[in-house]
Amino acid sequence: MTRITPDLASYEVWFFTGSQNLYGDETLRQVAEQSKTIADTLAAASDIPVTIVWKPVLKDSESIKRAILEANAADNVIGLIAWMHTFSPAKMWISGLDALQKPLLHFHTQANVELPWAEIDMDFMNLNQAAHGDREFGYIQTRLGVARKTVVGHASNPAVTAQIGTWTRAAAGWAATKSLKLARFGDNMRFVAVTEGDKTEAELRFGVQVNTWGVNELAEAVAAVPDDRIDALVAEYEELYDVAPELRAGAARHESLRNGAAIELGLRSFLEAGGFGAFTTSFEDLGALRQLPGLAVQRLMADGYGFGAEGDWKTAILVHAANVMGSGLPGGASLMEDYTYDLTPGNEVILGAHMLEVSPSLTTAKPTLEIHPLGIGGREDPVRLVFTADPGPAVVVAMSDMRDRFRLVANVVEVVEPTAPLPKLPVGRAVWKPEPSFAVSAAAWLTAGAAHHTVMSTAVGLDAFTDFADIAKTELLVIDESTDLRDFEQGVRWNQAYYRLAQGL
Ligand code: MN
Repeated sequence: MTRITPDLASYEVWFFTGSQNLYGDETLRQVAEQSKTIADTLAAASDIPVTIVWKPVLKDSESIKRAILEANAADNVIGLIAWMHTFSPAKMWISGLDALQKPLLHFHTQANVELPWAEIDMDFMNLNQAAHGDREFGYIQTRLGVARKTVVGHASNPAVTAQIGTWTRAAAGWAATKSLKLARFGDNMRFVAVTEGDKTEAELRFGVQVNTWGVNELAEAVAAVPDDRIDALVAEYEELYDVAPELRAGAARHESLRNGAAIELGLRSFLEAGGFGAFTTSFEDLGALRQLPGLAVQRLMADGYGFGAEGDWKTAILVHAANVMGSGLPGGASLMEDYTYDLTPGNEVILGAHMLEVSPSLTTAKPTLEIHPLGIGGREDPVRLVFTADPGPAVVVAMSDMRDRFRLVANVVEVVEPTAPLPKLPVGRAVWKPEPSFAVSAAAWLTAGAAHHTVMSTAVGLDAFTDFADIAKTELLVIDESTDLRDFEQGVRWNQAYYRLAQGL
């Protein structure tokens, strides 16, 4: 089926170089030439997935503001990189930066790696003064409160291009949420607190439009799916998955598989017609649907859609953003739920899963396609993909509404092989060890008020979510190898004050 994540190469990040007219034509010609070389180096870096576009050197307030307004207005421009090759008096940047609406990366670099010690004269010093030109620029960004990522080092250094590449992925995730339309089928699960939230604030903060449709509109789309399209999709299932014998053509439960295919096709047609990139379902509100959507949701997540169960639109936003940020990388992103623990001392693990809805993008193995009873939801037995997530590094991220703001909480984890086979567990699942330890991770998570639903990303890690949170000006609490519980608790308290003050009194 069709992936909805964009080709990241279709996105542009503009490379701005700051200087001033004082230097004269010859120096400014060299500034232009050297900055082009740096932009070309970034453009050629394999770990930067977007298109880097060099722009003419900026030398006065008017041209700076004009260039920034142009970037604001261009839909395919997802961010700016700025470097002050020489000294660019920063008051020239005030009105431009004040108008900036795109993510900004301040690249603190210089043209040369080594200093040509024996050759250095004042002309060289005059040309190569980013060491203080960028400090002037840092000042004005901080003075104006401009959110940005700062990256330090030479463009030829892989550690530098890796950071820039990750930031461009975060900027792509941000561009995706800014234009995201999210369809909710039904409301949140009754009485649940953490999946609630302020949808108006979400649109202001993240740009995402969150709206609800009656589930029977979806059921009508499912009923309208023609038989020949169901035939074709069932054939695709048989090619991609190990289909349980009872579900195959001619077998007793084949009709359930056909109904699962109809749900997928109906859901896809509804989402495509409305331009939706994310959705939620609710097992308490299935209307005329005969099964809780399981297989369909799993496959849609693998195609880049955001999804949250039980009406959880906040996690659906994160799943879509993670899918976009990880576009083209191995691994994937999925709704995940902390389900149950193995508390064996020294080898504690978390077994995560959901009723049905875990994305097969977390495995490189061939899932099985099975049918089993599901007590919850009160409908027919649903079809679902069953698999175990590949071992490897991952991050889980949750979003909570803290009344006056959204809070993201991220935990760096290691997905591991299950301690033993799980022959009786008929759902997609992942087993992981959280950093820095099970006890500290869980205590920090609970202290933060982080949710039981998360996005699990195995394609992009903590750095991408950190950049995303910075771009979104949204609180992010991190639980990783360096987390100390007492410091973490203090951080939660300080953030309460900081984020209220930062909103203005
Ligand atoms: Mn759930």
